[in-house]
Amino acid sequence: MTLATEKTLADRVRDDFPILHQEVHGKPLVYLDNAATAQKPQAVIEALDRYYQHDNSNVHRGVHTLSVRATESYEATRDKVAAFVNAASRNEIIFTRNASEAINLVAYSWGTNTLKPGDEIILSVMEHHSNLVPWQFVAQRTGAVLKFVELTETQEFDFEQYQTLLSDKTKLVSVVHVSNALGCINPVREITELAHQRGAKVLIDACQSVPHMNVDVREIGCDWLVASGHKMCAPTGIGFLYGKLDILEAMPPFLGGGEMIAEVDLESSTYAELPHKFEAGTPAIGEAIALGAAVDYLTSLGMDKIAQYEHELCRYLFEKMASVPGITMYGPKPQADGSGRAALVAFTSADVHANDLSALLDEAGIAIRTGHHCTQPLHKILGQSSTARASLYFYNTREEIDRFVAALKDTISFFKNIMG
Ligand SMILES: *Cc1c(COP(=O)(O)O)cnc(C)c1O
Repeated sequence: MTLATEKTLADRVRDDFPILHQEVHGKPLVYLDNAATAQKPQAVIEALDRYYQHDNSNVHRGVHTLSVRATESYEATRDKVAAFVNAASRNEIIFTRNASEAINLVAYSWGTNTLKPGDEIILSVMEHHSNLVPWQFVAQRTGAVLKFVELTETQEFDFEQYQTLLSDKTKLVSVVHVSNALGCINPVREITELAHQRGAKVLIDACQSVPHMNVDVREIGCDWLVASGHKMCAPTGIGFLYGKLDILEAMPPFLGGGEMIAEVDLESSTYAELPHKFEAGTPAIGEAIALGAAVDYLTSLGMDKIAQYEHELCRYLFEKMASVPGITMYGPKPQADGSGRAALVAFTSADVHANDLSALLDEAGIAIRTGHHCTQPLHKILGQSSTARASLYFYNTREEIDRFVAALKDTISFFKNIMG
């Protein structure tokens, strides 16, 4: 008789993800590139399919049945996203193509129109290029100055140094919630509170937190928060900006066009109410509807359950990685129970270049990513032009971690042998 073992979250959901059931180079696929994009459950694929099979029509302007159905489903996603991040109003959720576009919206609409020479923007050195380059544009246009929060010894957000950067010149703090390279979880509530004491606004890049844990915009207290659908089981081409109502109301439109106007004359126009003021042109309707299905799916699993299971995976991943010879791992170590950081690991090998590692792992059916992960300044600080990164999601299993680590060890010993 075998002991009945409890089914893990991954055991229960794996069949929901058709893409995971395939072979790559004759080996079962192990997908560990979830920080770049997550896979889509059948429910999301079906929502997109259903929209094009039954409801395809442009939103908002039509009175005919298909247009009404498309509009209702599109707007229903706004309610779902608002509830998912605990926004105070559905009008605080603006659909964008992705997180990058959401940050650009704030940078152009708020940043270029508000900031003056000498005003300061605080970012951190671990920011994704998407939360760096738009602010460089803003700084170049306005004369605002960029300041950077550095890393602690354990490669986390240096909160003490952050406090020394804050001053009455600080007008914006824009930081990542969970680093896509270091995996550290930044104290965004405390970061926000201190910034607000100085009268500065706060934007949180939540690309790596919203898919993996409960994120509550009102608990954080931030002014804006951005995320991408494709990292939370939804299609590409849809993301969102959360912004406090009064702040969004005071911001001028970012893009001009259809959907975002109230009344247009040849020389001037008035703008639509929120949220439409920021959604010029025909939006990604099917993708937005599918994002609604993704939010339903994640909610049905429970974000707490997802976070808890990912802690288990994280603990196991770090335990196994410790047995790999000649490896350097970046970012903080997890707590004993696997909490305290994201279930991902960026690493380098003393013996094998990261590019060779991922190419050889691909031969074994294992998908990891190599490069700077859109955090080039961080990589310069780490002294690496590129790192390898394995990033997990709730459908990954311990067996997959075993296969990844075994293949990593094989690859490293193979290289050591041929290098003699
Ligand atoms: C992926 C990611 C982004 C950018 O997301 P896009 O979907 O490419 O716009 C920004 N920040 C972090 C931390 C990310 O992981």
